[in-house]
Amino acid sequence: MKKAAIIGAGLGGLSASIYLKAKGWDVDVYEAQSFPGGKAAEEYFDGYRFDTGPSLVTMPWVFEDVFQTAGKDVHQELTLVKLEEICTYYLSDGRYLKAWADTEEFGFELEKIVPGSQNSFKKYLKEAEKVHSLGGNFFLTQAIHEIRNLIKPSVLLKLIRFAGIHPFSTLNKLNTKFFKDPRIVQLFNRYATYNGSDPYQTPATMIIIPFIEYIGGGYGIKEGIFEIPKKIHKAAEELGVHFIFGQRVEKINVQKKKILGINTASNDIDYDVVISNADVLYTYDTLLNLPNSKEAKRYRKLEPSSSGIVFYWGINRTFKELSVNNIFFSSNYTAEFKAMFEDNIMAEEPTVYVNITSKLTPTDAPKDCENWFVLLNAPSNQNQDWDLLVSNARNAAINLLSKRLGTNIKSHIVTEGILTPPEIEKRTGSKYGSLYGISSNSVTSAFMRHRNRSKRIKGLYFCGGSAHPGGGMPLVLLSGKICANLVEKYSGE
Ligand SMILES: Cc1cc2nc3c(=O)[nH]c(=O)nc-3n(C[C@H](O)[C@H](O)[C@H](O)COP(=O)(O)OP(=O)(O)OC[C@H]3O[C@@H](n4cnc5c(N)ncnc54)[C@H](O)[C@@H]3O)c2cc1C
Repeated sequence: MKKAAIIGAGLGGLSASIYLKAKGWDVDVYEAQSFPGGKAAEEYFDGYRFDTGPSLVTMPWVFEDVFQTAGKDVHQELTLVKLEEICTYYLSDGRYLKAWADTEEFGFELEKIVPGSQNSFKKYLKEAEKVHSLGGNFFLTQAIHEIRNLIKPSVLLKLIRFAGIHPFSTLNKLNTKFFKDPRIVQLFNRYATYNGSDPYQTPATMIIIPFIEYIGGGYGIKEGIFEIPKKIHKAAEELGVHFIFGQRVEKINVQKKKILGINTASNDIDYDVVISNADVLYTYDTLLNLPNSKEAKRYRKLEPSSSGIVFYWGINRTFKELSVNNIFFSSNYTAEFKAMFEDNIMAEEPTVYVNITSKLTPTDAPKDCENWFVLLNAPSNQNQDWDLLVSNARNAAINLLSKRLGTNIKSHIVTEGILTPPEIEKRTGSKYGSLYGISSNSVTSAFMRHRNRSKRIKGLYFCGGSAHPGGGMPLVLLSGKICANLVEKYSGE
């Protein structure tokens, strides 16, 4: 049996382990932390439970496929709750609307705010469906860097047609064509942040993100998001994958451009294949000791996606007007993205996202209380003065939330945890603390993410947010599957 080592039990590494084991490989997963999940972890503060990172599940079919490959049914393992109210939006003028999963209902809500926007929304979804059907799934499920994929005539045709769909326009420009009111444009511009990008730069093809959310649905997990990696880990273990937790891989051993194995602090172990679920740049700089390689130099030049500051607040009361997911928009969205991507600072008045899982799972907070996961988009870590930025961001979030909800939020915070970009970098090894690898702020970004199979080193593969097809839970799960398929395809060479 051929032997593979996977470095990291993030969702990408966990997925790769299942797909590869199912193909008959002997798979060992090395994880530096004592638990699986990477960014998708969990913390408790004074009786309040919080998922530390991801909060919204999309593309449920991707999760179904991972579990099915391990001989399990995701719906037996996890309670996926389709959110009827996907998000409550507090617009910049203080009015609010509910984004219902039922797109007709959501259209009515939009119409109440801006007459005519119900019809625009219908047209918008049609356009999104067109873009999605022409290229969306292809980009997300294929190893696009493999030249043999690219030259298949059917694939080439798809690519050319995909390129005809607004590749040189931005999401903001496209949204402005469909919606005349800046408040509604802001709402749909927000989808650029789903992969840590800037709506004023990211290509209009990102219109597939709202399509995926409105057509495929947005879900919460009753047991908490952290249960996803826990259950995938359990399924992988039952399949025969071997996990070594609390074990950092120090080095990937290579001889004559071919994988030899890995080094941990205590062992050198031989493997036929190594899959790195760790950050691509960290893999080149540290694990391969190739900081001057072409790949590392190229990757270093690419713009990182945004990071985030998260406040985990225990709140001593409930807010009936809020949903599981809530967005409180700033009054100047352009300034927010300029601050983040040009000036590497926090905007004075950032948009605030509040996720409250106790609305779904009351035991996540004490009785008559709520657990607020408060996320502010933040620049990547470039060694800014984070104490100052976090303190300003905290004040700004409290001011905006207090204004919109008509109560002094500060007086309701009874416990607090904080996650910062440097801390994200320290905990998960993500370079610059970026949440989604590189940004999608250019038309070529989709092709600039690192390939899933190394061209330089035979037997080396990459999965996770910094590799193709990018960050976000479903995408990293797909990257694990792509990797396993490539390992099988090239293992005979
Ligand atoms: C605040 C926040 C909010 C988010 N919101 C959402 C959301 O709502 N929806 C969504 O879909 N996604 C969201 N994401 C993104 C999502 O969490 C990530 O894209 C995804 O979880 C990353 O998975 P990954 O496979 O890249 O691995 P990571 O989670 O980055 O994990 C990598 C793992 O590798 C381990 N590792 C690294 N180096 C070594 C080594 N040398 N030896 C051993 N182990 C090593 C690390 O310890 C870590 O466990 C969010 C992320 C954050 C932080």
